[in-house]
Amino acid sequence: MRIAAATVYTKALPLRDPFQHASSGLITHLHEVYLRLATDEGAEGFGEVRGNAHYVTGDTPARIVAVLCDVLCPLVAGADPLQLGAIMDRCDRAIHGNSAAKAVADIALHDLVGHLLNVPACVLLGGRRHDRLATDTSIPFCPPEAAAAQAREYLDAGFGVLKVRVGLRPFARDRERVEAVWATLQAHPRRGDAAIAVDTNQGWTVKEAIRNLRALERYPLAWAEQPIAAGDIPGLAEVRRQIAVPIVADEACKGPEELQWIVRLQAADIVHLKLLKTGGMARMREMMAIAEAAGIGVMVGQMDEGRVATAAAVQCAAAARAASGELWGFQRVAEDVATGIEMRDGHMLVPAGPGLGVRVDESKLEKVAEVRA
Ligand SMILES: [Mg+2]
Repeated sequence: MRIAAATVYTKALPLRDPFQHASSGLITHLHEVYLRLATDEGAEGFGEVRGNAHYVTGDTPARIVAVLCDVLCPLVAGADPLQLGAIMDRCDRAIHGNSAAKAVADIALHDLVGHLLNVPACVLLGGRRHDRLATDTSIPFCPPEAAAAQAREYLDAGFGVLKVRVGLRPFARDRERVEAVWATLQAHPRRGDAAIAVDTNQGWTVKEAIRNLRALERYPLAWAEQPIAAGDIPGLAEVRRQIAVPIVADEACKGPEELQWIVRLQAADIVHLKLLKTGGMARMREMMAIAEAAGIGVMVGQMDEGRVATAAAVQCAAAARAASGELWGFQRVAEDVATGIEMRDGHMLVPAGPGLGVRVDESKLEKVAEVRA
């Protein structure tokens, strides 16, 4: 059995609620890149990755497509899909970096092999440890009254952590928003089993982070995420030393190389892993083991992506010992190309079907290129 064709697609998924955080700019569409792998015996697998994640990986949709067409698809086409590890090793040797392009190839391979073996992809990653996964949700930049209303809605829906976006100046506005969300939580019947957190998305300097997080210490924050620039891991360690709140490294924790520096410098309490940063599902599983051995917690997230990419993150989280996640975001997509994942009472349900557990409507995708074996 061989992979007979690797087909690259793109699709712009419009968002119902455009979003913005401290480093993203305004995002109105998810510019997704999809890969379909088909064997000579008729089995298929799909992968999806967010193309306009330039503010995290430096990628653009066109760059991901070019790396797939020029480098990765010619290595995947013709290969035996059951050798998925060896295929990805060849991809790593062929081109440095390019984690998003590698992620979409790795995700499609896991979906394909899951279908071939008739098992969910989490079985390929160590087996299913969870049937449902708690997920946090984000309160966007908005006036305090709107933040309070949004917080109430999320608490009613069962979410356990309300993560407030901060980091756009002035800080006084961030503090008002956190106060509004905290007051809403205190007045809600679920106050005992829900929490608040903040995500700065690199918005502060080290000094600002220490000052601002100290000012927020009166609220019992579950965590403070990526307070400073991604590249400053020693700075993140300094913030962590000065602040009692657990520090989450997101943009700072891309692949295993960054993770080992976070471990060495004790720069985070938790790392936020996302497939387009790790370069795929197998690599994310390896990074979980590194973090676990170092006593660092793991959060599995995604880039507010569509349902194929989200399902891949869900499969990884289902195989993880820790089950904290940020798997909510696909609901913003006005019209997706896939179905099959479901949210209930603030928890993602792990699909039971083979591979990623989602169905893709190929007719909604825009074909860009095909590499045949
Ligand atoms: Mg984050």
